Amino acid sequence: MATCSTINLARHAVGTQHSLKVWRFGQSGASPKVYIQASMHADELPASLAAAKLLPKLIAADEAGKVAGEVILVPVANPVGLNNVSLRSHNGRYHLPTGENYNRGFHDVSDAVLNAIDGRMANGRDADTQLVKREVANALADATPANEAQVLRLELMRLACDADIVLDLHTDSEAQMHLYLDEDHWPQAADLAGLLDAKVVMFARASGGGPFEETIAWPYVRAREIYGADAIDLPLTVVVELRGKYDASHELSDFDADALYRFMCCRGVIADDQGALPEFTGIAAPFTATDTLTAKAAGIVVYVADVGQMVKAGDVVAEIIDPLSEGDMVADRIAAAADGLFFARSIQRLAWPGVTIGKVQGTEALSHRTGKLLYD
Ligand SMILES: [Zn+2]
Repeated sequence: MATCSTINLARHAVGTQHSLKVWRFGQSGASPKVYIQASMHADELPASLAAAKLLPKLIAADEAGKVAGEVILVPVANPVGLNNVSLRSHNGRYHLPTGENYNRGFHDVSDAVLNAIDGRMANGRDADTQLVKREVANALADATPANEAQVLRLELMRLACDADIVLDLHTDSEAQMHLYLDEDHWPQAADLAGLLDAKVVMFARASGGGPFEETIAWPYVRAREIYGADAIDLPLTVVVELRGKYDASHELSDFDADALYRFMCCRGVIADDQGALPEFTGIAAPFTATDTLTAKAAGIVVYVADVGQMVKAGDVVAEIIDPLSEGDMVADRIAAAADGLFFARSIQRLAWPGVTIGKVQGTEALSHRTGKLLYD
C-alpha cells in the first residue's frame, strides 16, 4: 500500500521547520527499486510538476497491485530552496547562507565502502551487489552533516543509495529534453531516452563537484573498477533535464509523467502496459563533446540561433551587444566549436565575461573540455 512519510530537516533558524515528503509504493526491499526526486535546484519547477502528475498514476498502480518492485518518489526534493525568494525573484540553485550549489558536494562514501567490502566479495553478482548496497547505506548512516544543505543532501542520499534506478529530475534554463547518465548503461537506457523524446544524452562520470546522480553511483563505479564490471550491478542513475524552467505546462508534464510510468513498466517495476516504445533519435555522446558557450564581454545577449537548431563549427550562435558602443555594437560573437545541436541556452539576457550562455552537443570530445566539466 502506498505510504507517505515526512522527514524533518535540521532547523536552520529557530521557529522554522523544513521537511521532505516521501512517497513509497510496493514492498519495501522489492526489486527493482526506483528512486525519483524532483527539483533539487528548487527553481526548476517543471520537474516537480511532472512528479506531481506521476504520483496519482503510482497510487493507482499500487492500489491495483501492479507495483512489482519498489518505488520512492520525492516530488519536492528541496523545500529549503523553495524559500529562496528575494525581491520577487526565485533563485533555487544555491543555498543562500553558504553559497553552495545544492546539487554539488554530495557525500562521497566510496573509500569507506571499499574498505568495508575488502575481502568479502566473490560470492556471486547478486550477493556482492547487495553487500555493496548495505555498506553504502551503513556509511551514509554514519555521516554527520554540518549545515542545512548537507543535511538535505544526506537525507536524499539515504533514500536513494540502494536503488537500482535513480531518476533525478531537473530542468535547464531554456532547453530541449536531455539526459546525463553513465555510458555503461548505453544503449540499454535508450528506452528511457526514447520515451522522454530526449534530444541529447550525455555520458557523464566523475564530472567533478559531486552532483547527486554521479555520487550515488560512485562507490559502485569504483568497486567495479577493482572487482570487474561483471562483479556487481551499477545502478542506473540519470539526471533528466525536463527542458527549460519556464516549461511548466499540463501538456508537457502529462507527457513526462506518462513517459516515466511507461519506463517503469519497461523495466519490470510496474506490471502494466508499456505501450509502443518510441525510438531514440537524438545525439548520444560524451559530456566532453558538450560545448559550453561562454561570453567574453559584457552586454546584452542576442541569440541568432534557436534552441533545437543544428549548427556547424564556427557558426555564430549569439552576439553580445554593447549598448554604449558608438561604433560596432557587437562586443562579442559566440560561435560553436564543433558541429552539433544547439540544445540549451540561458533565459537571462545580461552577459558578463565568463558567463555560460548556451550548450551545443557534438559527437566528438572537445580538447578544451577537461578537468571539472560541470559549471557551478
Ligand atoms: Zn538542476
